[in-house]
Amino acid sequence: MATTKPIAVAAPGRVLVLGLGRSGRAAVGAALRRGITVLATDDSGEACEQAELVAPEGAVARLGEVDALVVSPGVPADHPLVLAALDRGVEVISELEFAWRLLGPAPLYAVTGTNGKSTTTALLGHVLGTCGRKVFTGGNLGTPLSDAVAAAGKDEQPWDCYVVEVSSFQLERVSGFAPDLAVLLNLTPDHLDRHGTMQDYLAAKLAVFAGAGHSVIGRDQDWPQRAREGGCEGIPELSAADCSSFGSSPLPAGDGGVCWQAEGRTVTAADGWTVKLPDHWPRVAHDLENVAAAAVLARLAGVSGEQFEQALSSFEPLPHRLVSVAAGGGLEFWNDSKATNTGSVVSSVRALDRGLLLMMGGVDKGADFSEVASCGARIKTVIAYGAAAGRIDDDLRGSLRVVRAAGLVGAFAVAVEEAEAGDAVLLAPGCASFDEFADYAERGRRFEQLARDWVAGIGR
Ligand code: ADP
Repeated sequence: MATTKPIAVAAPGRVLVLGLGRSGRAAVGAALRRGITVLATDDSGEACEQAELVAPEGAVARLGEVDALVVSPGVPADHPLVLAALDRGVEVISELEFAWRLLGPAPLYAVTGTNGKSTTTALLGHVLGTCGRKVFTGGNLGTPLSDAVAAAGKDEQPWDCYVVEVSSFQLERVSGFAPDLAVLLNLTPDHLDRHGTMQDYLAAKLAVFAGAGHSVIGRDQDWPQRAREGGCEGIPELSAADCSSFGSSPLPAGDGGVCWQAEGRTVTAADGWTVKLPDHWPRVAHDLENVAAAAVLARLAGVSGEQFEQALSSFEPLPHRLVSVAAGGGLEFWNDSKATNTGSVVSSVRALDRGLLLMMGGVDKGADFSEVASCGARIKTVIAYGAAAGRIDDDLRGSLRVVRAAGLVGAFAVAVEEAEAGDAVLLAPGCASFDEFADYAERGRRFEQLARDWVAGIGR
């Protein structure tokens, strides 16, 4: 395994950071740490004490003073300052790319895909940490990669390796980014309001492989597999020697990846590398996929099957991702607040073998909800709520029973009213949460509270 950056890309000497959310502020911190001159601007007037703040209307005029514009993931691709920079030949890079150029030579493992990124990233970080490595775990999940730079000493990095969750938005603006290992877990429709087509969404995701030392894909996943076989226009085939895979289908000859079996609860590689899965987790097929993906990366990073197995037994799954949070009165309540796209709703519905009252709603991201009907047998009623209620109703009413509610609390009341003993109430919203909540975690906590209160109130 290569452990040094295959492509040396110089860091810019002067930057303008656009967007002062968490990533942007981290980029400012990283720049200052490395003695890079930094200007900062934000459309919503966000303050920044560490760098010279430039008013949005004056930002274009300052482009001549910098070598690169560093954009936060939330900044649209057609933002006027981005377009002006491109027009003037100023390099535009994502916070991910900027941070990567400033990092030391420790190996970096990148995780992307539509769903399962956070789970896989957290698991891989946990496995490597349990093996005694000093691991930075972050990126799109929690701590921006720039914080790894800002926290490090000038010439020394405190980490042995980086495990980084990367989003398609961050990958839109990379050029030198070259992880030692990169995985594309899966690809189903999401963020099409920004990417336009699945082809463009895939192209953004595949940037993770452009400079990667070794690529890993989900071999049972349609879009990643098409990319591997070169079936995507304008996207070169991934060479078999540089690509391993994971899945439950048989491992192709010469593939250095793994195969998982749900029945025997094992993950195995062709050379005998084996993990026996613990009983507590993973329970559902999509988490088995995530474990298998982490297993390929860990194996390539030198972790033995025994070490992986041991680490797995102490892994705490992340909250708000298909967790059973309460049970009583014959009902079970599942919080999958992190299911913010149709693909994750479908995989959660498939995972639960009960009659379902499915709560969907929030702010839609240009998705087609009709795919939820493909796993309709278990769904008794969809309770559509929030800003997207009308769209969910339009897409599903032809094939499923849909009842509308105003907000999450109203939707919960309808769900328990309609449920019968043996059913499950599943919050898998398929949407973002911003019409009612600060984020998916707040939404999930509210649902958990409602479920617990309901269970506690039975028989009163
Ligand atoms: P991400 O960081 O990509 O959003 P998470 O691990 O936070 O991934 O999971 C997001 C949602 O997707 C949750 O609802 C979870 O139940 C579901 N999920 C997790 N892994 C997968 C997978 N491999 N395939 C499909 N859905 C998944």
